[in-house]
Amino acid sequence: MNPAPFKFIISSLLLCLLITRPNESMGQKNITTRIIAHRGAWKNTGVPENSIASLKHAIRLNCWGSEFDVHISSDSVPFVLHDHTIQGIHIEKTTAAELSKIKLSNGEPLPTLESYLKAGKSQNITRLILEIKSSSISRERSLALTKKCVEMVHKLNVAFMTEYIAFDFDVCKKVKELDPSATVSYLEGDKSPDEIKKAGLDGLDYHYSVFQQHEDWLKISKKKKLITNVWTVNEEEMMRWFIDRTVNFITTNEPEKLIELMK
Ligand code: MG
Repeated sequence: MNPAPFKFIISSLLLCLLITRPNESMGQKNITTRIIAHRGAWKNTGVPENSIASLKHAIRLNCWGSEFDVHISSDSVPFVLHDHTIQGIHIEKTTAAELSKIKLSNGEPLPTLESYLKAGKSQNITRLILEIKSSSISRERSLALTKKCVEMVHKLNVAFMTEYIAFDFDVCKKVKELDPSATVSYLEGDKSPDEIKKAGLDGLDYHYSVFQQHEDWLKISKKKKLITNVWTVNEEEMMRWFIDRTVNFITTNEPEKLIELMK
């Protein structure tokens, strides 16, 4: 047999496979990966992170979700912010009345969870990705905050548009105990898809370095019907890396960049 036509057929087949490989070309629309604005859309809009203004910008951009962080005051009122302290004031050691006097750099008051959820409720585009922060004082306070968050979400009828994330595995399990229908993903990165599934949680929301080290977890999670979400991916090259591996969600400080990339 003349090997030349055979070689041509094989190379043509290989070329076809390469051309049709999913996500090979970013020119084609990706329908798998969705965008979550990390602490709202703040970086390119000039508003403070975790402000209601940053949530509104994420909604304006049609982000699938907008992530935000929640701590609890000394008298058990949940507030939205990332760090344990703001302007030198320790959230967990300060009353709600005192915290309510704090203004963010754009002039808006430090948001309570209640005011934040009410702002999110006024639309039906962007889901609210609620991170329950671990207490700096005690595990009991982390669990008390968990209960407050789930109660508030239900009281304001936003359960259908809210998902939960936490670094504390017990907090994640507590949310499921309080609301078995809630969607809950774990953040720390030290549990395999098997362990997440066994604990009854819904997803892995891990730092990019974890997924890059355990690339198989993306595939295994898919087989186990677990959600995969990666944070915080701000560079185009890494966005492409995860889009090519069909991660379910990319959490980013640069939602505008990711939107452009996925057009
Ligand atoms: Mg967070």
